[in-house]
Amino acid sequence: MTGIYIHIPFCMQKCRYCDFVSFVGRKHLMRPYTDALVRQIQQSPPVKADTVFIGGGTPTVLPAECLERILYALNERFDISPQAEMTTEANPGTLDKDKLEVLRRYGINRISLGAQSMSDSELGLIGRIHTAEEVRTGVKMLRDAGFCNINIDLMTALPTQTEKSLSNTLEQILKLSPEHISCYSLIIEEGTPIFEDYRSGRFRELDEEQDRALYRQVCGYLAQNGYSRYEISNFARPGFECRHNIKYWQGDDYLGLGTAAHSYIDGVRYRMTANIEEYINDGFDRLDEQKLTKEDKMSEFMILGLRMDIGVSRAEFKERFSEDIEERFHLEKFINGGFMKYEDGRYAFTDKGIDVSNAILCEFV
Ligand code: SF4
Repeated sequence: MTGIYIHIPFCMQKCRYCDFVSFVGRKHLMRPYTDALVRQIQQSPPVKADTVFIGGGTPTVLPAECLERILYALNERFDISPQAEMTTEANPGTLDKDKLEVLRRYGINRISLGAQSMSDSELGLIGRIHTAEEVRTGVKMLRDAGFCNINIDLMTALPTQTEKSLSNTLEQILKLSPEHISCYSLIIEEGTPIFEDYRSGRFRELDEEQDRALYRQVCGYLAQNGYSRYEISNFARPGFECRHNIKYWQGDDYLGLGTAAHSYIDGVRYRMTANIEEYINDGFDRLDEQKLTKEDKMSEFMILGLRMDIGVSRAEFKERFSEDIEERFHLEKFINGGFMKYEDGRYAFTDKGIDVSNAILCEFV
């Protein structure tokens, strides 16, 4: 079955590190955008789906009535399995009772809440709109509304973050008892305000070893508290791994709707325009359409699959590509170097390999 991704490109304020396709000050476009999205949904092939992910931007800045129209159209058009995982991203400070009631009524059963840190000073430095207290209130609202599958997004390598402040963030987050935690390192993208903060010397970038130390701290703390790492940056209690994201890492099909959304269907990848006005005027053309070659698919099988702790299956590689994985890729050197292991028919990174995973994954391109 397919995964469906819906992009909602609006935010209340631009975070200082953000280079996603998300717009602020375009409230007047929310309804026309919803109209266009509903039209695109209605014109899409009526695929069977077992995961839906509404991301952004901040989907919960949309008025309840817009969320309802999008969810109604989704449920009408697509054959969504009754057991589907249906996620919406949300930010603290953008939730209210009406919106949560609409999300629940139309089958949303998982919320991914962007917390990033529980230090108000760190949150301020990266331009988040909320405080730590609002994260706590947000989770309480979600629980009261009946959500029993909550992800919390965290970040490491934040300006001024220390082991102690990270430890405090982790402690605070665990008190909220989320089922899933994602934790990514801050990436300083050129063109963002935070890039200037670092360039001007306002903040000092962490070196590789300091960055890895914070990552290891997160892994250790979460492991001790019942969260298994199942992907380099994702941790879950048993049974709460994100099924939608696993589709990406396993190379399964997904249909992306909305401005800047990407799709991968039957070996073809394409994207929608990132120009919101163009999209609103029915700009639903497939851009940068690319049919993946066998070589592309083999590379992606490795690059995405090795992100997961279970790694990649030797038998599945053979079945998909009619070749032995070892003939195509020189995995032995990684095994000999202690960067990978081979167990139960699968190749996977060791902890030592995860530390240098970016460099190793480049070798599969
Ligand atoms: S909330 Fe997310 S999408 Fe919106 S500006 Fe911040 S990082 Fe970007």
